[in-house]
Amino acid sequence: MTDVVVIGAGVVGCAVARELSRFDLRVVVLEKSCDVAEGATKSNSAIVHAGFDAKPGTCKARFNVWGNGLFESWCRELEVPFRRNTSLVVAFSSEEMPKLEELAANGEKNGVPGLRIAGQTEVRALEPSIGRDVCAALVAPTGGICCPYELTFRLAENACANGVCFLFNRGVSSVKRNASGGWSVGTEDGRTLETRTVVNAAGLYADVLNNQVSAAKLTIMPRRGEYLMIDKTYADTFHATVFQVPTPMGKGVLVSPTVDGTLIVGPTAEDLENKTDTRTTATGLEKIRQSANRVWNGFPVSGVISTFAGLRAHGDRGDFVLGETPDAPGFFNAAAIESPGLTAAPALGIWLAERITDKLCAKKKKDFVCGSGHWQVFRTMSAAERAAAIARDPAYGKIVCRCETVSEAEIRAAIRCRIGARTLDGVKRRTRAGMGRCQGGFCTPRIIAILCEELGLEPEQITKFGGGSHLLVKTGLSAPLSPSCESCHRVKRADRAECGRGFGNHD
Ligand SMILES: Cc1cc2nc3c(=O)[nH]c(=O)nc-3n(C[C@H](O)[C@H](O)[C@H](O)COP(=O)(O)OP(=O)(O)OC[C@H]3O[C@@H](n4cnc5c(N)ncnc54)[C@H](O)[C@@H]3O)c2cc1C
Repeated sequence: MTDVVVIGAGVVGCAVARELSRFDLRVVVLEKSCDVAEGATKSNSAIVHAGFDAKPGTCKARFNVWGNGLFESWCRELEVPFRRNTSLVVAFSSEEMPKLEELAANGEKNGVPGLRIAGQTEVRALEPSIGRDVCAALVAPTGGICCPYELTFRLAENACANGVCFLFNRGVSSVKRNASGGWSVGTEDGRTLETRTVVNAAGLYADVLNNQVSAAKLTIMPRRGEYLMIDKTYADTFHATVFQVPTPMGKGVLVSPTVDGTLIVGPTAEDLENKTDTRTTATGLEKIRQSANRVWNGFPVSGVISTFAGLRAHGDRGDFVLGETPDAPGFFNAAAIESPGLTAAPALGIWLAERITDKLCAKKKKDFVCGSGHWQVFRTMSAAERAAAIARDPAYGKIVCRCETVSEAEIRAAIRCRIGARTLDGVKRRTRAGMGRCQGGFCTPRIIAILCEELGLEPEQITKFGGGSHLLVKTGLSAPLSPSCESCHRVKRADRAECGRGFGNHD
């Protein structure tokens, strides 16, 4: 019997698991994908919202402001990047000024510190590249930026270091009351786990699980947001996150730096039926371009290096659905966590863990390990640190991803860690290999070869993100069209000797 089953390894599930791992409890996280952060957590704006737009009195408002305040200490402990870069909401005409004032008043009610409205001259001084039609802005100094998937990996690593068990490819299909007053959690592979309590952090599918145990039905709709990523060469164009006045569908199109030096532009907001439709569309991307052009005149389409879309878990109750379900004691919801769910995650983790540990009368561990024990990141090292790292481990001296300066040592560490990468995307999100200008054009074959070596797999077994997302196929031809390496299936170059197993000889 387990004490807590957490369903879903997004930022919320991992934050709850990490907070629970401070206690003497048996905690299991069940995740239907092959990795953490595969849902909304991997595809969002990465903004740590100040908290001025959530309706006062809602859970969204409360957990936003509380979560925002926790980001410095959480990111310091977990060694993940976080920057309070300030959020601006810009108005383009006097008609939009009442909306800025409304947001400022909202923010004050929510307890957001330091809000003020700045006129055109000050806005220009803050952001010299801002569009010529901007006439004023709400300034929120507590607005910040982070890396959502990096935060989630470190939360999971830290939870795992403290005894939490993560099981991947384990979609939960049923939750039923068991004979001992706890819960039987059935998974798609036909297994059952008995547990005293359940945390429903299943993102878009949290409604399905809630509706199995409670008469208070919930509906979650996918609301798609598309994005454009802009190359690092534009890194100095904007320093703050620049929003436009929000619409009933959301916070509107923003332009923001990322903690990794790129710029993010988006999202759109489109209600869908299909909970898996993360395609980007020509119409959506064109809408972003047009909208961003107001904030960033002459928006550089040639700077776009990538596009992606995420699905918001938009609930029908207008707020997060949180806590123990009154008619299903021991079943705790963290449902309908749309924006500002990333910002709120640390606070949600603490709040839910408090309720669960109270219920289970759990005792705090004496030997809780703080921090993620992360490997050293080559691109952020000084020259002296690089030399020392290479002397210790020569694999630090082999750069695999040239755009993002990611070494072989980091890729191996990302595969070998507790919640290790098993896919190309897993390596990409843990190290940034493949996230630069060439989008993996050069490093993908090398990363596949390292994954093969580390995991003892054949190249055609490596996937992009699990399931059927294989990257290579065996042709079935008796002889290859051109001579290729038996280990990694890359075509041999005439000027190269027989290669050994591994990527190092292909340079
Ligand atoms: C376009 C967009 C922009 C956003 N921008 C921001 C922002 O800038 N700032 C901010 O604070 N928030 C933002 N958000 C919101 C934020 O991303 C989410 O609130 C947050 O990531 C939710 O985390 P989660 O763990 O609840 O859900 P998810 O990350 O979706 O995780 C849920 C997990 O549950 C798993 N799962 C589902 N069903 C099952 C099952 N049956 N069994 C097992 N596992 C299951 C899924 O595979 C998934 O891994 C944005 C969201 C979107 C989509």
